[in-house]
Amino acid sequence: MEYIIHLTDKCNLNCAYCYEKKRNRDISFEHIKNLIDYEINQKQKYSIIVFYGGEPLLQKNIIKDTIAYINSKKAKTDFYYGITTNGTLLDNDFIKYMKENKFINIAYSIDGMKSTHDLNRLTIDGTGTFDIVEKNAKTLLKNFDSVVAMSVITKNNLSKLSENVEYLINIGFKCINLLFDYFQDWQDEDLDEIRKQCTKITEIYADKILQEYDVEIPLIDDKIKTYVKNEYDCNEDCKLGMKTINIGTDGNFYPCMQLVYNEKFIIGNCKDGIDTKARIDLIKNSKKENEICKNCAIKKRCKHLCACRNYILTNDINQLSPIVCETEKIIIEVSDKMAEKLYKQNSKMFIQKYYNENYNILKQIANIYGKRR
Ligand code: SF4
Ligand code: SF4
Repeated sequence: MEYIIHLTDKCNLNCAYCYEKKRNRDISFEHIKNLIDYEINQKQKYSIIVFYGGEPLLQKNIIKDTIAYINSKKAKTDFYYGITTNGTLLDNDFIKYMKENKFINIAYSIDGMKSTHDLNRLTIDGTGTFDIVEKNAKTLLKNFDSVVAMSVITKNNLSKLSENVEYLINIGFKCINLLFDYFQDWQDEDLDEIRKQCTKITEIYADKILQEYDVEIPLIDDKIKTYVKNEYDCNEDCKLGMKTINIGTDGNFYPCMQLVYNEKFIIGNCKDGIDTKARIDLIKNSKKENEICKNCAIKKRCKHLCACRNYILTNDINQLSPIVCETEKIIIEVSDKMAEKLYKQNSKMFIQKYYNENYNILKQIANIYGKRR
């Protein structure tokens, strides 16, 4: 199981699109101890603990206390760690600490070049954070292979999207997670620019794959995988609490980070563990196909059944948002064109990545068992 622990609701930044409800609250260490004891009793082979916020590096001591507590238990379960950070509080001591302590999953918030990043990723007094974020990203990338750039797509940075992807690849990111901010006031006229930028990204991506340079852009990769398997695999997301559980600073379990603190979605707590009935009920209720999607030819490849996303955008776990539908169609179309081109050119890396199951399994094993520099 993967547990995403919200160590604090506080953050040292004030990003323009932040959806975190900054409640000025930190998690109690008692909750964390209960969670670890619960997980050890589950007798899993391995578990992943991801430190999340607000900004988790405001709570470096709790991170260290958590790992020290786990180590003191000498449990059979192998624990691995991850963190999602805005990077501004990272220092050499903490990078060294992560290297020494099985951090396999580092998600790093960076939107792209300075002109883009500084539009939205701001300090509390409104100053751009690019300079420190870029400097710390470069240091991090020298020390870890598997740092994921978390990059938010907004109306005010959309026109620079492909340039930003190129920039992020050039400074050394091998995985770039592009996240649409669906809360923005997207209009029909934005769709042309979305198509143009997504097409350019597939061209950049295809060039890299043809050069045998393995870069991941889940926005595209996920769609090609759905073509090969003919289904969207929610495994890589939260799977509504089946694969990943979020723990709020209140000590309760939630299925998705976007649903944290919504009482309707509590599926357990640190003391008592998972409330199986609540989780199963939630999953059952989220599988109702809505009328618009029922006869759609690409419904198996689209994220219309992502209950968390549906809920935060429409207040209904089964109701989709029109902009999600439009962007899904565009991304599937441009990804397929790129895949066809790579297939026809007999790209070795393309065939390996998408048709060789073992390639992805080996990659996951390499990530879990510490392919770290
Ligand atoms: S760094 Fe994250 S939590 Fe902090 S303000 Fe920005 S988006 Fe919100
Ligand atoms: S592309 Fe649109 S209509 Fe088709 S399944 Fe997805 S959300 Fe539904």
